[in-house]
Amino acid sequence: MVNDRLVAEGEQVLYKTYNRFPVAFDHAKGVELYDAGGHAYLDFGAGIAVAGLGYGNTLVDQAMKEQIDRGLLHTSNLFYNEPSIEAAEKLLAASGMDRVFFTNSGTEAIEGALKIARRYHYNKGRAGCEIIAMQGSFHGRSMGALSVTGKDHYRAPFEPLIGGVRFATFNDLDSVKAQINENTGAIIMETIQGEGGIYPATEDFLRGVRQLCDEHDLLLILDEIQCGMGRSGAMFAWQAYGVKPDVLTVAKALGNGVPIGAFLACGEAAHAMQPGDHGSTYGGNPFVCAAASAVLDVFKEADIPGHAKAQGAYLWKALDEVKAAFPEMVKDHRGMGLIQGLEFSPSVPAGEIVRKMLLEQQVILIAAEHNTIRFVPPLVIEHEHIDAMKEKLEAVLAELA
Ligand SMILES: *Cc1c(COP(=O)(O)O)cnc(C)c1O
Repeated sequence: MVNDRLVAEGEQVLYKTYNRFPVAFDHAKGVELYDAGGHAYLDFGAGIAVAGLGYGNTLVDQAMKEQIDRGLLHTSNLFYNEPSIEAAEKLLAASGMDRVFFTNSGTEAIEGALKIARRYHYNKGRAGCEIIAMQGSFHGRSMGALSVTGKDHYRAPFEPLIGGVRFATFNDLDSVKAQINENTGAIIMETIQGEGGIYPATEDFLRGVRQLCDEHDLLLILDEIQCGMGRSGAMFAWQAYGVKPDVLTVAKALGNGVPIGAFLACGEAAHAMQPGDHGSTYGGNPFVCAAASAVLDVFKEADIPGHAKAQGAYLWKALDEVKAAFPEMVKDHRGMGLIQGLEFSPSVPAGEIVRKMLLEQQVILIAAEHNTIRFVPPLVIEHEHIDAMKEKLEAVLAELA
């Protein structure tokens, strides 16, 4: 079988930093992926919250094809190109931020955000500022992003990381206050912790953090790489809280599959870095920006955040019913919009459910920390898909009960 051959070959050549499932995908359409044997899988993972518009979106694909036909995939940032300016204008309009820098990934967006914090305070004669990050957070795998990721098992093998990072407890304002000193320069957090187990910030916490930042001249960096781009039911999750960050990071769904991320800043933070302070060879090239620009058009024209909010409410009801039907197995249900999590009791490993859903029911789900299953489907999901997923999840849970 093609699938088995690809799995075996992949095991031989790819650096083993992942425990991959024995499935090789070949093509996709809408909210379904097809393996090399032609079997369809219903997608509730979106390639880790990337394929917001699902697979084979005509407008986005058309924009990429047109850019290929122009022959201009890359120019370097020594010159201007139209797709990057259009994508920038649309992203700034959607976020209300002042300036954007395009990166190739989420972790690079975090690197840029951290550099803004250091540079902002350096400009004011406060070199080497400290950063407060949250326990349980995930910000990426590069050394800077890892330094603010609140998970010891990700960090320990790679220490020493960058210094001056203090960790506070998410959703505990007093623990943040306790970490502030005269060297603190910024607070970085996810508006909704994703990888850490789907924990939305409480309103009091996010507002309180914003207030602390204002009082102490700290930059608030909100990482919306996973929960942004409509997934929470708002274009950016913080918009529903009525707070605004100084620096925002975006990636994942921005390119709907092409590698692009961004850091955005407003106010003084938008002018903290000077020419020569930061750069990227590929970042914001015309090919990926043509895709992102089309993605942002579709988001606006089809009101993707509104759709995510409505489908999120339907998913919430469905998962609440699953929780009620299996009270011994399901411990908690958390989330917002189309970023939701079910936490299972320790006796039921979430990884086992994910494996069974994939290999026996052909439904793609992703595990997260705290024995939690993440539901981050394409934002274009419909009721029928949620119904189908629920039925299969209940079948797997009944089998495990
Ligand atoms: C995925 C993720 C990142 C890292 O993005 P990469 O593109 O994998 O580098 C950072 N922050 C959050 C919240 C994420 O979910």
